[in-house]
Formats: sequence, structure tokens, C-alpha cells
Amino acid sequence: MAKPVLMAIDDDPEVLRAVSRDLKRRYGDRYRVLDAGSGAAGLELVAELERRQEPLALFVADQRMPEMSGTAFLAEAGTRYPEAKRVLLTAYADTDAAIEAINRAHIDHYLLKPWHPPEEKLYPVLDDMLADWQAAFKPAFQGVRLIDARWSPAAHLLKGFLARNQVPYVWLDAEHHAEARRIVEAAGAGPDDLPLIVCPDGSTLLRATPALVAEKVGLRTQAEAAYYDLVITGGGPTGLAAAVYGGSEGLETLLVEREAPGGQAGESSLIENYLGFPAGVSGADLAHRAAAQARRFGVQMLVPQEVTGLEVDGPYRRLRFADGSAVSCHALVVATGVSYRRLEIPGAAELTGAGVYYGAAAAEVAALRGQDVVVVGGGNSAGQAAMHLSRFARGVTVVVRAADLNASMSRYLIDRLAETPNVTVRCGTRPVAVAGHGHLERIDLDVGGSPLTLPAAAAFVFIGAKPRTDWLADHVQRDAQGYLLTGADLVGDDGRVPNWPLAREPYPLETNLPGVFAAGDVRHGSVKRVASGVGEGAMAVALVHRYLATL
Ligand SMILES: Cc1cc2nc3c(=O)[nH]c(=O)nc-3n(C[C@H](O)[C@H](O)[C@H](O)COP(=O)(O)OP(=O)(O)OC[C@H]3O[C@@H](n4cnc5c(N)ncnc54)[C@H](O)[C@@H]3O)c2cc1C
Repeated sequence: MAKPVLMAIDDDPEVLRAVSRDLKRRYGDRYRVLDAGSGAAGLELVAELERRQEPLALFVADQRMPEMSGTAFLAEAGTRYPEAKRVLLTAYADTDAAIEAINRAHIDHYLLKPWHPPEEKLYPVLDDMLADWQAAFKPAFQGVRLIDARWSPAAHLLKGFLARNQVPYVWLDAEHHAEARRIVEAAGAGPDDLPLIVCPDGSTLLRATPALVAEKVGLRTQAEAAYYDLVITGGGPTGLAAAVYGGSEGLETLLVEREAPGGQAGESSLIENYLGFPAGVSGADLAHRAAAQARRFGVQMLVPQEVTGLEVDGPYRRLRFADGSAVSCHALVVATGVSYRRLEIPGAAELTGAGVYYGAAAAEVAALRGQDVVVVGGGNSAGQAAMHLSRFARGVTVVVRAADLNASMSRYLIDRLAETPNVTVRCGTRPVAVAGHGHLERIDLDVGGSPLTLPAAAAFVFIGAKPRTDWLADHVQRDAQGYLLTGADLVGDDGRVPNWPLAREPYPLETNLPGVFAAGDVRHGSVKRVASGVGEGAMAVALVHRYLATL
């Protein structure tokens, strides 16, 4: 964090030099001393410091300045930094001015010129004031400030992106937060320019998107090299495991992740069945540790960056990214997992991100304190989300299409939901519409043929998931749902693998395109678990070595 500033303002260069010198001598190790030759120049400096959110502890301003008096300066500067201590420099004849300054600019002290020797006349006074200031000083928040309306879908996207990439941020409500309004005004921005982001270095981003913010907060979106031994698409547990093994075993490895490391697991509030964590581990924590581990082994990670195409050039596999850039590799591990199915009922598309959320949307949960929410779905992920929400929301209704939860949810979760007083499970029920002005307010349900409308501030949707593998369709065989076929699953009725060019059989996790492997949830027939994804990620790298040895 920047050192707090002590600012001296005087139009007399000699006096200004003397004040600055004495301030630096005593306080230079803990404070930054800045000076200005006029009130106007001083105010410009103050505005710049405010824009960069740097702390300012003390003003020392001379009363006698031709264009703006010290009192006028301190009154104005004090509106920007109300906590900063204010000292007016006066000559003997200026006692009236000092009294006016006490009333008008709320100065803390007036100091008679000259102040020699400073050890007696200056430092004791300033020591006292600065100790006071330090005691009340709360260091400014050093992360990203995100300013937008409460129900903005664009802000929802950014909150999730920042949280899941471990970037500290605060959200300020553009409509109701005074500081947010001031920042928007200072940036000359209007409602169409939101979301507005203030970065830790003080710079602002209008109409911010994850890709724009990524660059500002130091996430890499562009590959350093044109070629890698191994590229991994998808940074869920499977991709992260492949990255750790690839990097630790000496392969030049690139991992490309569309949103944030962690994948679906990153959304889980508590993974209770992953080996070695008897008290459970949050998905975010697991993802954070795995990403750090992969980076430690020299893996390069592009976040956020989406793989949109695959081309084959002899032994090279060339991957195209959403921003038009591309990289080549010899081996590719596809670990793109699955994405939530969308709720296809009236109102859902319009309210997505404004009360209708896919997945756990952890960043929104705290804001729902004391409100009624709905969880749609009957699987373990829906059960976990309902349990997590029950700690914040007034009431949680779980809407389940099936007649009971037995076939879709683990017993321990069914029991926990039943024991939690503010959770209601409605089986044999399906949502038919969502509605609200600008954000979700209610959900219409069909309960075994009878209509029911519930008030809801948010609906979290977990109605199954499907792989998004269209970008591979020209080269790689998929099943009817889009899951990638590998190994023995590729063998047709005639005992052969269609379009397979090599004498050997495909390796277990290999697709019909040699050197392209699929692991984790995206793979046809995979067990949809964190541990199995991690296992397949590690195994895929062992098979990559085998493949590379044949080139
Ligand atoms: C809420 C919830 C709770 C769960 N709880 C548990 C649990 O307690 N225990 C358990 O064992 N399992 C649990 N699961 C299941 C587990 O999380 C998944 O099986 C696991 O995450 C699968 O890992 P994966 O890496 O194969 O895929 P995913 O986790 O789906 O990761 C795929 C990643 O690929 C990225 N991606 C997709 N397409 C592209 C592209 N074109 N370019 C770049 N990146 C792309 C995605 O953004 C994503 O980050 C839970 C799942 C959910 C949703």
C-alpha cells in the first residue's frame, strides 16, 4: 500500500521548501511528502490522490496565497479527505484569519511562521496530530471496486469471475451507495457505462467485462509461446490435475480455462467426499490450491480464454481461441466438463443473472440474507446449494420434478434437508414461469397439476448438465449428448475404430484423433466426481507420455 501523504501548500517557494524539508526529515520514512505552489495546484494533487485512493494524513497550507487563501484551500480539500489533519500557517498579524479558518475550514491547528526550531515548535504538534490520524485510519480496501446496479446481469458475471479467480473485490451499489455515485460522476460515466471497475492502481474501466478486467488484475489471456508439448482445455479438477502432472513431469504445458480454475467443483460450498479432507473442503479452496500447484510446476494458464476450434496439421494439433489467437501442440487433453442446462420457461432468459442463476452463484448468496429463495433440481449439487443457502435465506424451497429424492440425491443430504427447518422440499413439482420487474420476484410452479406462485428473490437452477463439445465435432467422435468417446468405447460393431489411422488401438482415454485425449466429466461414461476427474487427469498425462514417445 502507498505511504500516506503529508501535503504542503505555499506560493512562497522558500517557505514551501522549508516546510517540505522539515516534514521529510521527521516523517519521510513513514509518509510521502508532496508540495504544491498554489491552492489550485494543491487541489489537483488532492483529486489525483483521491482517484488513486491513496491515504492523505495532513495538509499544511499557508493562509496568504493570492488566488486561493489557505482557509479556502483547506475547506475544499477537507471535503475530499475529511479525516486528514489541517494546519494553517499564519503570520502574527493573521489571527483573525486563523479564527475564521477554525470556523470555516475546521482546522486542527494554526502554526505561526517561522516555526524554528521544528523540534520544539513543529514536531510535537504534528506528532500528536498524526498519532490521532493513525489511530482512526482504516487502510483503504486494496482490491477491485465493482460498481453497478444490484440486479445487473453483467455485474453478476463479473462478481462470479472475480470471486472464482480469487481477486479481492467490493461491490458498490450504483444506485444507493454515496461513494459509488461519486466515483461514477468523477469518471464522467452514465448508466450505460456500467459496470464500472476501479482497479487497485486507481484506473477505471467502463463497461467492464471479465476479459478486460483480467488484464488489469494480472491474469494472463495470451499464450507466451506458439507451441506446447501439451495443451489442456478446461481448468476443472480434471484439467488442473493434468496440469500438475504435465508440469511436474517436464512437459511444456498450457492450460486454457474459459471462466476460472475449479470448474463445477469450484462452485461447491463443501466437497465432503474427496480423499484426505475429513472435514470437507470448499471447491474454491481446492481449486486455488491446485492452480497454485500447477503454476509452481511451470504450467502456463490462460484465464479467461475459450477454445473455439481444433485443426489438424500432421502431428500438430492447432487450437483456436475466442479472441482469434491460436497455439499448436502435440498432445491435447480435453477436460471441458459439462455446463448447466438452461431453464426453458417464460421469463428465464430475461432474468438470467438478475435473480435466475445457474449453479451456486456464491457471490450472490450473502445479499439474499433474510429473503425467500428457490432451488430447482433434485441432485446432490441442488441439495448442497439448498443447505448452503439455508444459512442466509429466510426460506429455501427445493423444487424437484421427480416424486422423491431417493434416486437422485445422497442419503446424507436428503436427511440434512429434512432436518433443516427453513428448507421445504416440494417433489412432483416443476417450474412453469419466472417473473419480476428488472429482477426475479416470483416463480410459478405446477404442483401435480395445481398452480402455485411463490415469492422468490433468487432461483438457483441445477437441472442437469451437458458437455459443450461442438468445437471438436469435425474431428472427434461424440455420443448423442455430445460426450467424447474414448478407448474401447470407440470400437464399432465390426470390432474396428472408424477413421482410426494407426496400427495400434487407441489408448484408454484417447479419442479417435491420435494425441487428443478426453478426461473427466466430458468423457462418455465417466463417473461424475472430483476424485475420478483428478484420477483421469493424472492418467491422461501418463498416456500423453506414451503417445509422445511414438512421434
Ligand atoms: C454444486 C456442485 C457440487 C458438487 N459436489 C461434488 C462433491 O461433493 N463431490 C464430488 O466428487 N463431486 C461433486 N460435484 C461434481 C464435480 O464437481 C465434477 O464431477 C467435477 O468438477 C468434474 O471435473 P471436470 O474438470 O471434468 O469438469 P468441470 O468441473 O465441469 O470443469 C470444466 C472446465 O472447463 C472449462 N471449459 C469448458 N469449455 C471450455 C472451452 N471451450 N475453453 C476453455 N475452457 C472451457 C469450464 O469453464 C470449466 O471450468 C459437484 C458438482 C457441482 C456442480
